[in-house]
Amino acid sequence: MIRLDGKEVSLSVRTEIKREAEAFTQAHGYPPGLAVILVGDDPASSVYVRNKEKACVEMGFLSRKYELPADTKQADLLALIDTLNRDPRIHGILVQLPLPKTIDENAVILAIDPDKDVDAFHPANVGRIVEGNYSFVPCTPAGIMEILKYYRIPIAGKRCVIIGRSNIVGKPMALLLLEQDGTVTVCHSKTENLTEITRTADILVVAVGRAKFVNADMVKPGAVVIDVGINRTPDGKVVGDVDYESISLVASAATPVPGGVGPMTITMLMRNTLTAAKRTAERKNQG
Ligand code: NAD
Repeated sequence: MIRLDGKEVSLSVRTEIKREAEAFTQAHGYPPGLAVILVGDDPASSVYVRNKEKACVEMGFLSRKYELPADTKQADLLALIDTLNRDPRIHGILVQLPLPKTIDENAVILAIDPDKDVDAFHPANVGRIVEGNYSFVPCTPAGIMEILKYYRIPIAGKRCVIIGRSNIVGKPMALLLLEQDGTVTVCHSKTENLTEITRTADILVVAVGRAKFVNADMVKPGAVVIDVGINRTPDGKVVGDVDYESISLVASAATPVPGGVGPMTITMLMRNTLTAAKRTAERKNQG
């Protein structure tokens, strides 16, 4: 079985982004800029935000981090987003989710200028993905598409099964595979005869959030298996939604956890920010 190495793909994409970011900075006199807002002190979120900052530095982007206390008022967060929406040096705005319960996540997503919405969660961007006419795609499914492209895995005409229908992974994943002419089925917690369906998949994407949920019995011989899951075991180990060892006897290729889909997510955030910067510059040139 081929190990689909997300670190290798990520490195290749990051090299390209860095080169393009340098060219952008030379041409315009300022770098692509990303603002990341963290509300509260959730340890996992703090790690994600720190890694995003590191990626910005590595790729020559401007990085601005806003760390707000957990009791921040929604109005104050919205005011900060409004300021960043109007800041010409900031091309991407990311509010780290989840937010404290006192803040309405939807209101926050709606407040971000869709042209700076590098997570692609704003309904305007979701609608554009449905139409197939988009600039940004949520980072995790975008990273998966990049892995499939890098390893030249054919999608057109293939049976693609996704387990999970979340707004950030399952649903956009389905749309992207459909756009590439895959024949797509989305399964979820209410799906009957799940194994019967997953065993038809040429490409199986698993985004359930349950450790080792998929084993060899659920996989068609020769299938490509993409494991999105990040689950922590009681002893602190990170494991995926797929039992990698078990499926390695039947699948033709699979992403490991860690080292598969995970490394791609921040890389695609950088790509979205670069795209946002280029689009803003183009619009300015047009007048
Ligand atoms: P979610 O909890 O929003 O969605 C889980 C989905 O799984 C739901 O649609 C649900 O219907 C489905 N499901 C639950 N139990 C099921 C069952 N028994 N049979 C079939 N379907 C079932 O999760 P999410 O945000 O999509 O994330 C999924 C996993 O991916 C999590 O482990 C998360 O940590 C991980 N994740 C990883 C990255 C990354 O960068 N690699 C990014 C986002 C999420």
